[in-house]
Formats: sequence, structure tokens, C-alpha cells
Amino acid sequence: MQSLLKALEPYQTYLTIRENEPMAAHTTFRIGGPADLYLEWHGDAPLGEILRVIRASGQPLYILGRGSNVLVHDEGVRGVVLNTLSAGEIACEGETITAGCGAGLASIASTALRHSLTGFEFAAGIPGSLGGAICMNAGAYGGEMSQVVLRSWYVTEDGEYGVIEGAGHDFGYRQSVYKEHPDWLVLRVELGLRTGEPETIRAAMEDYTQRRRDKQPLQYPSAGSTFKRPTGYFAGRLIEDCGLKGCTIGGAQVSEKHAGFLINRGDATCDDMLRLIEHVQRTVKDRFGVDLECEIRVW
Ligand SMILES: Cc1cc2nc3c(=O)[nH]c(=O)nc-3n(C[C@H](O)[C@H](O)[C@H](O)COP(=O)(O)OP(=O)(O)OC[C@H]3O[C@@H](n4cnc5c(N)ncnc54)[C@H](O)[C@@H]3O)c2cc1C
Repeated sequence: MQSLLKALEPYQTYLTIRENEPMAAHTTFRIGGPADLYLEWHGDAPLGEILRVIRASGQPLYILGRGSNVLVHDEGVRGVVLNTLSAGEIACEGETITAGCGAGLASIASTALRHSLTGFEFAAGIPGSLGGAICMNAGAYGGEMSQVVLRSWYVTEDGEYGVIEGAGHDFGYRQSVYKEHPDWLVLRVELGLRTGEPETIRAAMEDYTQRRRDKQPLQYPSAGSTFKRPTGYFAGRLIEDCGLKGCTIGGAQVSEKHAGFLINRGDATCDDMLRLIEHVQRTVKDRFGVDLECEIRVW
């Protein structure tokens, strides 16, 4: 790691560099030990060059958005975590919004509303960044990123820049080309929306927000729905029907409010969470014969 730090010296003006940065501070689960090296970039950093330097060091690279879909091990991350949140610019022209990967979905939704653009209401309450959302093809209430993404620009760990158009993203349920290539960093995304009625857009956003408040345990740290929706079922319903609501291991608990959410009651370790995930998966499999697959990424 010392040789990587030395190799990054020429880029110091563009980077905030921290060693042994606790990942619990950067994930919505509030779980996770230290990353060996944690980087944030500023301004127009030569990202391609920086990524090539990291690649040459042989250290694994992890790209982090708002950390709302990752569970980090208690031992932390051996390698480099690159935080993308500084790339938060949002611009609107006609029916197109172009935003940096670090832009929050809520801010993009507000921009859309301000410009009377419809199509992004579904994302207003998802607490992720645009980069994380496109990687996960995040979705809710019948909408998902695949419906609005026109093109995205990226840079690979080898420092190669590229652009992907529409169908090239290979979107599927919580799936995309970026999930298949974890070393491709989404830089910027163009979203295609439509002109709509501001009052209708606002009402839809308020309705979705209220539904989240009513149904989701938002007062506890979590990563949203822990499991993907199995074909023909709802994960939360299966878990509830197994009598697992409130089931607790250490500080990790199946939410009493929404069984699809596994929450951190305050002092959960990653080990607690992983044991609870396994217990839930085994119980649901034994009772219903259904495999629950994790939606969250485990680092
Ligand atoms: C309370 C709550 C509610 C939620 N509700 C929903 C919901 O309704 N629907 C839904 O789909 N999800 C939901 N989620 C999950 C999560 O918010 C989404 O998956 C979100 O899109 C993740 O974005 P992020 O910036 O937090 O990504 P992170 O968690 O930081 O990263 C997720 C993945 O994306 C990759 N990634 C991040 N940025 C980039 C980038 N710039 N380039 C390439 N790869 C990148 C990471 O490497 C990682 O593999 C919820 C989470 C919470 C806590």
C-alpha cells in the first residue's frame, strides 16, 4: 500500500486520501470495518490515469456511491475504495437531464420537478447515487432506471473511456452491464424524460414518499430490501409467513415493520447480519422451497 501511496503523490491536489477509513461511516447499514485506502476525487481529476495507477499496484478497487446497497465485512476492505459523490453536477436541457454519477436520486427528481419533467418520480425516495442506481438498475413503484437511461459515459480500471447507449446497458431486474463489470466506473448519465404537469409529478412523489414512510423502517440503518423478489413471490411476505418478523441475531433484526428489510438495531456487526441473512434464507427454503437471493452487495 505504501508504494501505491507514493505513486498517487502526483495526483494529491485532486484527491483526498485516507488510510484505514471506517466503512461504517459510508454505508447506510452503518456497518463495516476499515478500508485500507479510501479516496475521494475533486474537480476535473484525471481519473483514467489515477485508475491506471491503482490497477498497476495490484490492489483491488471498490467503487462506492452512497453505500445504500452494500454490506461491508467487519474486517473491512483490503484494497482501495473510491468514493464517487463529488461528481454531483446536474444539468437540464429540454427533456434531457445529464448528471454526474455522484448526484443523489432525490436531487435529480427535484430538478425534474422544477423543469416539469415526468418519468423520474419513482426514484425520488431511493437513497442512492445515480452511479449506484444505474449499476443496480434501481427501481420502485413500476419504474426503473432502464426506462430513463439514454446513455452513460464510463472509464475502466485500465483508464479507457467509453460510452454505452440504451440497450447496450443490458438492463435486467437489479442487473446491468456495470454490475457485470465492477471495474467500470460510471462517470455521467443522460436521462430522457417527458414534459408533464408539475402538480401531477409532485403528487406522485409525495405519494411514494408517504408509502415508504408508512411501510419501511426508515428510522433504522438498513440497505433497503435485503433480498431480490423471487419470481412469483414477495420476499417480505415469505419471510413474514415463516414467522421471522422481529427475529434477531446480535444487533441484526428482521424488521417488525417490513420483513423484507433486515435492519441494524444499533450495534450490529457484519457477522450478525450475514448470519441472519443465512438463517432467513434457510428457513424460507425449508418452508417454501424458494431460494432468496441477496440484492445487497457484500464487500
Ligand atoms: C431505505 C432504503 C430504501 C431503498 N429503496 C430502494 C428501492 O426502492 N429500489 C431499489 O432499487 N433500491 C432501493 N434501495 C437500495 C439502494 O438505495 C439502491 O440500490 C441504490 O441505487 C444504490 O445506490 P448507491 O449510490 O448507494 O450505491 P452503492 O451502495 O454505493 O453501490 C451499489 C453498487 O453500485 C456500484 N456503484 C456505485 N457507484 C458506481 C459508479 N459510479 N460506477 C459504477 N458502479 C458504481 C458499487 O460498486 C456497488 O456494486 C434502498 C436502500 C435503502 C437504504
